[in-house]
Amino acid sequence: MSKPLILALSKGRILKETLPLLADAGIVPAEDLDKSRKLLFDTNLPDVKFVVIRATDVPTYVQLGAADIGVAGKDVLMEHGAKGLYEPLDLNISRCRLMTAGIMGGAPRHARRRVATKFVNIARRYYASQGIQAEVIKLYGAMELAPLMNLADEIVDIVDTGNTLRANGMEPRELITEISTRLVVNKASMTMQHERITPLVERLREAVNKRRSET
Ligand code: AMP
Repeated sequence: MSKPLILALSKGRILKETLPLLADAGIVPAEDLDKSRKLLFDTNLPDVKFVVIRATDVPTYVQLGAADIGVAGKDVLMEHGAKGLYEPLDLNISRCRLMTAGIMGGAPRHARRRVATKFVNIARRYYASQGIQAEVIKLYGAMELAPLMNLADEIVDIVDTGNTLRANGMEPRELITEISTRLVVNKASMTMQHERITPLVERLREAVNKRRSET
């Protein structure tokens, strides 16, 4: 048999929304992903396997061809750069907004605005595009704490309901971009495995459209 197609899935919140969509497209894992510590899974299709990895690693796996197809948030793809990836489909799940945020009613305290974020590349590009001088500080979590502790004037982070910001006395400010989860395909795979990948993308497209028409 030929080499299986590898689908790299972002674990966590996105995975929970991706699996029903894949099931609608006729692909289901051979075992319950939640009940296993495995990272590589068989599916009901003999030539398709899943790898379940950190969202931030998905573009790397697909770009370098370790996975043929990936499922990742637009935030992660923008931050990574996503060179060498096709993005054929917006899966329209895990929708949220990437925003700047700061302390409610607060104004920047530093002449050169200090911005804490895990999205350093996006933040640098955004502030430069606004003509604002910014010192971007990389953090790995709990961004909301940085302004409260006077580590930063603002943060760049994902906002869904805004509850996390409000709970920490912060407010959303500028919208950088709307985010949703995308399907990405390795460029060489798209060429070499066209007849296997295209039907899969089309089945997913139908599943996405069906949901759109139902909501
Ligand atoms: P909320 O309190 O509803 O505004 O949710 C904000 C927090 O949830 C953020 O700090 C994010 O880490 C996380 N979050 C919300 N939506 C998403 C998403 N679609 N993808 C990844 N993280 C998200």
